[in-house]
Amino acid sequence: MIVNCTGLRTGRQRSGILPIIALLMLSMATGCSQSNRNQGTTSEQSPQAQEAVSTPRLQSGKTKIVTTFLPIYLFTKAVAGNVADVEILVPPGTEVHEYQATPENVKAIATANVLVKNGLGLEVFLENTVKNAQNPKLTEIDASKGIKPLNEISPVVKTTQEEKDQEHTQGNPHVWLDPILAKQQVTNIRDGLIAADPANKATYEANAAAYVKELESLNSEFQQTLQKTPSCTFITFHDAFPYLAKRYNLKQVAVVQIPEDQLSPTDVQNAVNAVKKYKVKALFSEPGVDNKLLVSLSKDLKLTLRPLDSLETGETDPQHYFQAMKANLQTLETACK
Ligand SMILES: [Zn+2]
Repeated sequence: MIVNCTGLRTGRQRSGILPIIALLMLSMATGCSQSNRNQGTTSEQSPQAQEAVSTPRLQSGKTKIVTTFLPIYLFTKAVAGNVADVEILVPPGTEVHEYQATPENVKAIATANVLVKNGLGLEVFLENTVKNAQNPKLTEIDASKGIKPLNEISPVVKTTQEEKDQEHTQGNPHVWLDPILAKQQVTNIRDGLIAADPANKATYEANAAAYVKELESLNSEFQQTLQKTPSCTFITFHDAFPYLAKRYNLKQVAVVQIPEDQLSPTDVQNAVNAVKKYKVKALFSEPGVDNKLLVSLSKDLKLTLRPLDSLETGETDPQHYFQAMKANLQTLETACK
């Protein structure tokens, strides 16, 4: 596996060649170059929210929860509802894999009761940020607790001489893209919140149960739809979908990495060979990405380039998860036909 997101940072330090995923991120309207422009944390406050009287913490009396990035925010917000204040450290539209913490992030953690992270090595920025926040009362929830990470999942086409990522020791972090593992994350978040704020146990349980039910029905939808196209094989430019692929019997055969400015004939030939070898049906990029290299590569491969959403950015309504995942399902269904 070449382009493991946590490898981007090291890849960039190591050589002048950007892995394609980094290129994608840069080409997005709100990509890396703007990483830290958007510094504020988003706070959700609801006037009609119930007061958590027995755990007087913030001035509002509510438990203050900070979450790292979008999927974890969505899951936590779904579980917390209005009984706790939920903030997000990495603003939507900002690259999580290479995120650099801001002073506001340190402040947010310093004044929080609970920190929820995806874990599996995704939030590289957290370690120092938490240290700098010096908050001995902070409870940390690892949403991926108990999830067995996948490592190398597929043959990978390597079109540049990039070294293998050495720091990617905790496996692939993109577990939220499998509804069943998302369910486990929601359950982990629920249990962590109950432990930190037992006064609101009933609310956390009820909210989590409702969200889990939706995840289960999403899972059924994926199963029913994708069983019609077993072993559908695809190539991606962001190694975000191994858990989804494993769950629904798809095959992510390659994560293509291409150089920054121009595809060499060898790059193209390697990708074409992979398409032939693995009988690839689909080529996926990400929503909002308009990259000429990818378009020209897709033409060479005679495959339609379609967007598959890794949910690393998007809207902050907890229902956004289901909307984006259903759009992904439609894309997969069309591409795998
Ligand atoms: Zn990613």
